[in-house]
Amino acid sequence: MKVIVLGAGIIGTASAWFLQKAGHDVTVIDRQPGAAQETSFANGCQISVSHAEPWANPSAPLKLLKWLGKEDAPLLFRLRADWLQWRWGLSFLRECTPARAAHNIRQIVAIAEYSRQMLQSVRDETGIAYDCETRGILHFYTDEEEFQASLPAAQLMRELGCPRQNIDADEVVRIEPALAAVRDKIVGGDFTATDESGDIYKFTTGLAKKCEEAGVRFCFDTSVTRLLTEGSGAGARITGVEVIDEHGRHQVLHADSYVLAMGSFSQPLAKQVGIDLMIYPGKGYSATYQVKAPDLAPHVSLTDDGHKLVISRLGDRLRVAGTAEVNGYTRELNDVRCDAITRRTRELFPDACDYDQPEYWTGLRPMTPSNVPYIGKTRFANLFLNTGHGTLGWTMGCGSGRAIADIVSGRRPDLDFAFTGMAQPLMGTPLVSVPARG
Ligand SMILES: Cc1cc2nc3c(=O)[nH]c(=O)nc-3n(C[C@H](O)[C@H](O)[C@H](O)COP(=O)(O)OP(=O)(O)OC[C@H]3O[C@@H](n4cnc5c(N)ncnc54)[C@H](O)[C@@H]3O)c2cc1C
Repeated sequence: MKVIVLGAGIIGTASAWFLQKAGHDVTVIDRQPGAAQETSFANGCQISVSHAEPWANPSAPLKLLKWLGKEDAPLLFRLRADWLQWRWGLSFLRECTPARAAHNIRQIVAIAEYSRQMLQSVRDETGIAYDCETRGILHFYTDEEEFQASLPAAQLMRELGCPRQNIDADEVVRIEPALAAVRDKIVGGDFTATDESGDIYKFTTGLAKKCEEAGVRFCFDTSVTRLLTEGSGAGARITGVEVIDEHGRHQVLHADSYVLAMGSFSQPLAKQVGIDLMIYPGKGYSATYQVKAPDLAPHVSLTDDGHKLVISRLGDRLRVAGTAEVNGYTRELNDVRCDAITRRTRELFPDACDYDQPEYWTGLRPMTPSNVPYIGKTRFANLFLNTGHGTLGWTMGCGSGRAIADIVSGRRPDLDFAFTGMAQPLMGTPLVSVPARG
């Protein structure tokens, strides 16, 4: 079968990899000159099943109110005259009940655990080098209340098979000695030995190369402008995808099936054909520093709960990422937020890096209110979704790619997850058929 994948971030590239392995003739379209140039470019680099608790949780509404208008707040809503943003915000609030948060954690752990296994198998098969560290993820807290509030979610994750172990401050510093300078401020932590980290950009571009070697075609510098449709009801189909190619020419490309994996930009494209995806961009920041003193910089991937930052060692670089602004599609760098990341990193690891030459970056997380992605079918028989992976697209990427390849091939993926547009199996917790939307 001929399949066109729209988008060459981690999600589109992993989809293409597993689709070609399933025997399909695959073409990938992306507006950028190469793979992983947008949100999959310089993120926090954690493979973190232990981060399955979504932003929408019972403590979020109060925190959001407290943070409104604070320029350096970890999560900042800038309210706009934007109907989608308001609908998304209301839907986000509905996901904050304890029952919805627990349901969403189950979904995310299921796909994230599966995905880590898929990542490991791709790594073993391809040998892609991406500064991978398999030393676990260490989450540390500097606020007793936040630490106590984290315990129920950690407990639920353990019940679901994610070994997120609570530990005391001494154990935190034993696992990552580079945190010694702030030992007195740490009140506790948790450690998930099975989590990992690695450079998403190196992995995705490496996988795109392997895809090409296996016969996948990549059309870069090519913007998707429209999906063409025919029929209605059960007979509705996509007949082609209209693009502007690298020479500025309009063209229509045809396939038997289409996979939508354009991150935050899946929303406006799907809307043109009447599919209302509840995806809104959540702008995040990262800073990359050159490591000066290798023993003073952390090797274990860290989560600094108080500042909502994640920290990953990528060879001789240190990547620090986090914070979110819900503020439309702008990718502008805000100096206050950039400075806050460097100030905090310098405080944690004073002599580890060259803090005078940080590389700052922003990317748009494709956020659903629940942080559960859309993976599955649509009302068009040959249009499939693999999008809306929010804060965990790297963690869920390979599993989502494998799952969509199964679905396009007419098979049910081998995990208990609420695939979009598909009846649920009679096993595990009752699941809704689509992630929550407004
Ligand atoms: C600061 C930050 C830190 C993060 N940290 C982590 C982390 O530690 N762990 C983790 O698991 N996740 C993390 N994430 C989330 C993760 O990066 C994203 O979920 C993931 O990159 C999304 O991948 P994607 O392929 O869906 O989107 P993208 O990577 O954005 O890919 C979409 C592709 O579609 C293309 N495209 C869009 N519109 C068009 C069009 N009209 N025509 C043609 N092509 C188009 C784009 O060029 C792009 O290549 C982080 C995100 C941010 C911003």
